[in-house]
Amino acid sequence: MGGKLAGAMDVRAATTPKLQVRGATKVYPTASGDLLALDRCSLDVHAGEIVSVVGPSGSGKTTLLWAMSGLHGLTAGDVLLDNTPITGPSPAIGMVFQDANLLPWRNVDANIHFPFEIKGQAPDREWIAKLMHRVGLEGFGSRMPRELSGGMQQRVALVRALSFKPSVLLMDEPFGALDAFTREEMNHLVEEIYLDTRTTIVLITHSIDEAIFLSDRVIVMSARPGRIAHEHTVPFPRPRSMEIMSTREVFDLTNEIKMEIVGDQKSKALSAQRSVPQAAQ
Ligand code: ADP
Ligand code: MG
Repeated sequence: MGGKLAGAMDVRAATTPKLQVRGATKVYPTASGDLLALDRCSLDVHAGEIVSVVGPSGSGKTTLLWAMSGLHGLTAGDVLLDNTPITGPSPAIGMVFQDANLLPWRNVDANIHFPFEIKGQAPDREWIAKLMHRVGLEGFGSRMPRELSGGMQQRVALVRALSFKPSVLLMDEPFGALDAFTREEMNHLVEEIYLDTRTTIVLITHSIDEAIFLSDRVIVMSARPGRIAHEHTVPFPRPRSMEIMSTREVFDLTNEIKMEIVGDQKSKALSAQRSVPQAAQ
């Protein structure tokens, strides 16, 4: 196993990363002063990799993902896509958010076509039909969003994100609002789509199980200011069966990551308590 992993690392070292995050730092000016949300984060994501980012609430995960998507800039540092700095949204990058964000007055097809209309581009109907089939939405094109369950709406959002054939898919807690069963279904769907397309994926999630099921690597962020605290390689083959997911190795990795997040929150809370009397002196 060690030899196989070392081999994989060599391939990575030889190729330019798909995404390079270099010293990403973000300060938000707020009424009570500057807030350091992201502090010198560096991360390479290679073509065809799935990388998950986990960490406590407020650790800058969304801030990092928005910088990767070009939705906002950084205070310092940069993000490169295929060696070119990202300066704004690009069709090469697809996004899925926690809410499906469908326009309620448009049916499913019209929602998927909407970004193409904005760009004045003809949608690739054949590809979209393939995606609709892949996610089990064949025949649902004329339904209105309110007629669909949360899981189905999120499938539409996934089709919309993949409709431009992006080389990178960024997802920000995409299944966080779904029930556990639907979430698991969606995880399998993402795995299937990944095995079909080998799209590079960065996934933010609160679920360590989801992160381990889907990823090649799991990045653990520290509580504010957000820094990359730990990184784990997930060496299990795909598709990841229930047998694989119930092994001792998966159990141990899950607990290790859990402890890192909980431990970090506890130590930050303790040092915040300690700093109160000091500040009063
Ligand atoms: P996460 O996604 O890990 O929960 P975020 O990236 O959303 O974290 O936020 C990181 C920190 O930055 C939080 O403390 C949040 O309150 C703050 N923050 C996020 N967006 C803004 C903003 N637009 N203005 C001011 N503060 C913000
Ligand atoms: Mg977030």
